[in-house]
Amino acid sequence: MKDLTINTATAYDLPRTFVGRHLIDGAWVAGAEIFERLSPSHGVVVSRSALGSAAETEAAIAAARRSFDAGVWSRISGKARATVLLKVADLIEANVERIAVQETLESGKPISQSRGEVGGAADLWRYAAALARTSHGDSHNTLGDDMLGVVVKEPIGVVSIITPWNFPFWILSQKLPFALAAGCTVVVKPSEMTPSSTVMLGELLVEAGLPAGVCNIVLGYGEPVGSLMSRHKDVDMVTFTGSTAVGKRITQAASDTLKKVALELGGKNPQVIMPDADLENAADAVTFGVYFNVGQCCNSSSRIIVHEDIADAFVARVVELSRQVRFGDPLDESTQVGAIVTADHNAKIDAYVKAAIEAGAKAELGGGPMSVEGLGTQFYQPTVMTNVTPDMAIAREEVFGPVLTVLTFRTLKEAIALTNDSEYGLSAGIWSTDIHTCLEFSRRAQAGTVWTNTWMDGYPELAFGGVKQSGQGREIGKYGYDEFLEVKSLVMRVGRDSRAPWVKTSA
Ligand code: NAD
Repeated sequence: MKDLTINTATAYDLPRTFVGRHLIDGAWVAGAEIFERLSPSHGVVVSRSALGSAAETEAAIAAARRSFDAGVWSRISGKARATVLLKVADLIEANVERIAVQETLESGKPISQSRGEVGGAADLWRYAAALARTSHGDSHNTLGDDMLGVVVKEPIGVVSIITPWNFPFWILSQKLPFALAAGCTVVVKPSEMTPSSTVMLGELLVEAGLPAGVCNIVLGYGEPVGSLMSRHKDVDMVTFTGSTAVGKRITQAASDTLKKVALELGGKNPQVIMPDADLENAADAVTFGVYFNVGQCCNSSSRIIVHEDIADAFVARVVELSRQVRFGDPLDESTQVGAIVTADHNAKIDAYVKAAIEAGAKAELGGGPMSVEGLGTQFYQPTVMTNVTPDMAIAREEVFGPVLTVLTFRTLKEAIALTNDSEYGLSAGIWSTDIHTCLEFSRRAQAGTVWTNTWMDGYPELAFGGVKQSGQGREIGKYGYDEFLEVKSLVMRVGRDSRAPWVKTSA
């Protein structure tokens, strides 16, 4: 095995190989089987993680159930929960560097983006802490003079959280603090490829004083761990982020017990460029939208829909900017685009591109895998595809790589039709200086988020999620928090007079 030799790594106080264990009922449990993760960019083992069995998953679910039913977290005050969540936020900020480096080593994403992901997540924990104290039900004193109706919100129970490899820390933080703020107990399963930042977060939860059994972590594959978490009778809700195909399997597994399912799935997100737009800003946002996280992003704007009058000039500018994007070692501070997560995935990206070329599309830039000196071959060239037709797989399916497809239109109506001609509906964007155009597009686009003259701006106050096959339910904001709550109506006769009897006795 090659040892890790990376020029910037000495700056970090990091074990060479992170050892990941399960967290079950407050105890760290080593697994019988181990998954070795090779860094996609450095070709060395960067973590050795336990691979969970059905027995370990059962134990974690049982711990979450026991702690929920005991009320050690579910019945304490919002203030007490908020105190722990705020402490976690502080600890995240104190540990950004350690977690971010590990995230980069496992995922291949640039260190600057890992830092943003981990550090930025602290704000989600703080926002959830605020909700734990301020969210409330409501009361109704207009039901009749002697009646009082109170609507209370109660934690839904035990929640399974299943996450993907592309933003392991951020996506977990879109779910976990909100579930905990609501009073739920949880079992978490990260992707087998990027488990370490979840384990590191588990360590911070213990340090912050979260009671044993409230957050359990089981590492391992979808089968057996994720599927058992999805169908188990003692689990009340599953919240999943990942591919649409696995989301459908989870929904089927959950249907036997009719547990609640929240899904954040794939996308084929368009940015529409009108001729009156600020084209320099739009070109920069398109470049960012397609290469951020090496294009392995649910919100990747992999499909641009550009007015035919400006298409050639706009594409030329995007190509020019694409040439200037800095690819390379993800641990290098200046790198903007790192490695592809696995060799298989790199081949899958290439198959999409080659099939499109075969069908008549043209690679204005890139169009194949590439190697970076000293870092191997798990990289893909920045790729801009024209002559694409809406029926090609590259224009319809998630490529999940640094590949941009270009479609053209003549009228806003056509642009809206192309936007909505997709089984997905995660996000969409419009670039125009005309408020009417922007509003019309925003209202007609079938997407959970519509950006106007910006791309991928997110705020904990807002809601995130998709329509159509991009998912169901919402995350973050009060909408995401409410997903983890059941609503119960309390109907009370509070007047001194007893209620009129239903059975009229003769006495
Ligand atoms: P994936 O669906 O392959 O895996 C996601 C998780 O599900 C992993 O932890 C995996 O082990 C687990 N899993 C696999 N089979 C399972 C099963 N049968 N039962 C339960 N769990 C199972 O996705 P991925 O490749 O890790 O991530 C990429 C996908 O995630 C893309 O499609 C991307 O669009 C999507 N994604 C969506 C969002 C969003 O918010 N909408 C965000 C990030 C990623």
